[in-house]
Formats: sequence, structure tokens, C-alpha cells
Amino acid sequence: MNAAENKPKNLARPYDPSKVIPPGATVGVLGGGQLGRMLALAGRAMGYRFVTLDPTPDAPCGQVADRQITAPYHDAAAARQLAELSDVITYEFENVDADVTALLMAQSYVPQGSRLLHTTQHRLREKRAIEAAGVRVAPYRAIASEAELLEAVQAFGTPCVLKTATGGYDGKGQWVIRQLAEVPDAYSTLSRAGGELVLEQFVRFAKEISVIAARSPRGEVKAFPAAENVHVNNILHLSIVPARASGQVLAEAERMAVRIAEALDVVGLIAVEMFLTEEGELFVNELAPRPHNSGHYTMEACRTSQFEQHLRAVCNLPLGPAKLLSGVVMVNVLGQHVQPLLEWMVRPESQTAVPGVTAKLHLYGKSEAKDNRKMGHVNLLTDNVQDALDWIERSGVWK
Ligand code: AMP
Repeated sequence: MNAAENKPKNLARPYDPSKVIPPGATVGVLGGGQLGRMLALAGRAMGYRFVTLDPTPDAPCGQVADRQITAPYHDAAAARQLAELSDVITYEFENVDADVTALLMAQSYVPQGSRLLHTTQHRLREKRAIEAAGVRVAPYRAIASEAELLEAVQAFGTPCVLKTATGGYDGKGQWVIRQLAEVPDAYSTLSRAGGELVLEQFVRFAKEISVIAARSPRGEVKAFPAAENVHVNNILHLSIVPARASGQVLAEAERMAVRIAEALDVVGLIAVEMFLTEEGELFVNELAPRPHNSGHYTMEACRTSQFEQHLRAVCNLPLGPAKLLSGVVMVNVLGQHVQPLLEWMVRPESQTAVPGVTAKLHLYGKSEAKDNRKMGHVNLLTDNVQDALDWIERSGVWK
């Protein structure tokens, strides 16, 4: 028995700062979507093996993993099988069932633990944790009744944003209240699901940016350069890196992400989404404890991709340098873009349309190209943002 094993276990910490999961080991991934796929692609190059659990046969991650267990996420027998096959377990989505996490933690090694998931699964808990880390969020109030909502809307002024505390994503579970008369409808619609609500003051932001930080059990922390994010219909459309903001603001955004990673005892990645106002103020909007769409640019533009970094952190390897090698614009490929994009990418002009722009296509292997479904992305490498935007325009794909 080594010295580390003799130490009393700190139950609040699901990880062991001295335990390393070396290449050759098997990584279990709960969730078989594109994030798991890109994690497995990065990890296979490093020598790790992968097993994933996902309800859909031939899931994006299953296609590149050594093995897929096809079962619902709440299936205890399947979770047990994942635990048996894995030396370490991670997840690629945050709405992981608490019982499943408990089972996996009892039967395998889950260095990310369950506390961070518990925090980020609930907007109010998340905001309190961010504030406790000394980082600002937009003013907010917990809302338990229509009367409370009315009072809070009067206090904040319109517009303001009512959100469900749990279950919302990509703008779902939200209502922008533009006048007092909307209060009854907003309350009855969002309270229908029965969960808690939170009202936020509307931030008149100039830009949305995000920073992804990684932290390992040994306590090493590194942040990737901030991305400037452009959404269309509440779905991420572009990430522009470097973000077009002052060096001071970007350094502050990176410091905030590092502070959150440390204060929340993160293992793996934490994506921190922020609003940046005209005055240069930053407010954190939300967190995601996993690889993030706004970090896909790192795949070719950084010395270490977010996926390799996540594995390094979870496996307690030294973190890789997060330095940016090239300017980049990431554009998301949704279901409606796949066919026109493929027609464009097979034409020689796609490589020469805008000199100096290198286009790197990533597709996730999903069979059904439904509208607005994330099917892939293109990283446009160039130090001139306008050139990348011109490439997007020339392709005629994103109309
Ligand atoms: P969320 O689901 O919290 O990421 O919100 C989805 C989008 O709604 C954000 O990307 C913003 O564009 C907008 N939004 C959310 N909260 C606020 C807020 N407090 N003020 C202004 N815009 C917001």
C-alpha cells in the first residue's frame, strides 16, 4: 500500500491528487454525442481506450470508441457494466442522473464527482457558487410565486428574463418579460413544469464571450483564450478567437474562469459563458462542466485541444499548453447546412475562395440531418476575421 492509500479519505473530494490514469487505460464516457466522440478521437491518439453508454445505437462516440453499451442513461445494470469496464469515468452532458452518478462513484473512479454537477444543474445554486467565488453574475432573484415575480419585475424594470432553474438549454425554458402585463403568462408557462424559477436583470451586453478552464486533481489550472460567441435563434453560430475586446478585458475573463475552476474544485473542464457590456464589465451567465461548443476552435487553433485537455485533467496528466497558434472562426454546421456544405467542400474553390483561410471540416457522424441539429463544425484558420466571414459568405451555406 502506498502512502496516498494510507491517508484518510476526504469525502468531499471524489478524486485522489496522487492518482494518475495513464494512457492504455480505459475511459468510460457517459453520453455518446459529439463531445464524447471528439474526446475519444483525441484520447485514442494518446493511447487510451474508450467505452461509452448511450441509448442510441451507433452514437457519434460509439462509432469511434472501442465499445458502446446501448441502454438508457438511468439503466442501473448498464451503468454497472460501464463501471466494470472503465478505469475512469467522465460525462459529456451535465444532466446526469444523481442516482447514476452515485452508482458510478461507488463502483468506479469518477474524479469529477457529483457536487459540481449538482451545482450546475440548478441556476440558483450555480449563481450562488459563482458569487461565492468572488465573480459577478447579473442581478437575480429566486421566484416562488406570481406575486414575487411581479414585485421583482417592478424592482428590476423591463426587460428582464425569467428562467426555469433546471432543465433549460439553448434559450429553452426562458421568457424575456418586456412589459408588466406579461407577468401572469410568463409565470404560468414557466412554472408549469413545477420547478423553481429565477428572474434575471436584462444585461445590455455588447458581446457574449466564453472561457474554458481546465483543472486537474493535482491542482494545475489552465484557461484557453476567450471566444467571442455569436448566436442565431439561441444556437451558437460562430466563435471568433481571439475575441474582439481589449487585452485587459480578456485577461480578466480568463482570471474569472480560473477563479471559478479553483473555488468549485473542478476536475476536467469548466466552460464559463459571460456577457461583456460596452463599458467593459463582465457578468457570468452560466457554466458547463464539460467540453463546450465554443471550445471546438481549439482543435486546430491551440497547442492542446479542449478534448485532450479534458482527458489530461481527468486522468491527472500534466495539462498541455493552451496557447493560441492561429486566429480562428468556428462556424457550426446544423442539419440544414450539411447538404450545401458538402457540395461546397468538394469544390476546389472551397480551399481557394479566400486566400489565407484554411477550412477544417468536422462532422459528427449523425445519421439524421434534422433542422437545427448540431451535425458538425468548420474551423476557419486565419488571422483575419473578415476573411473567415467572407469565406462563410462565399460558401452560400449559412443564409
Ligand atoms: P442561457 O440559456 O442562460 O444561456 O440564455 C440564452 C441566451 O439568452 C443567452 O445567450 C443570451 O443571449 C440571452 N440571455 C440570457 N440571459 C440574459 C440576461 N440576463 N440578459 C440578457 N440576455 C440574456
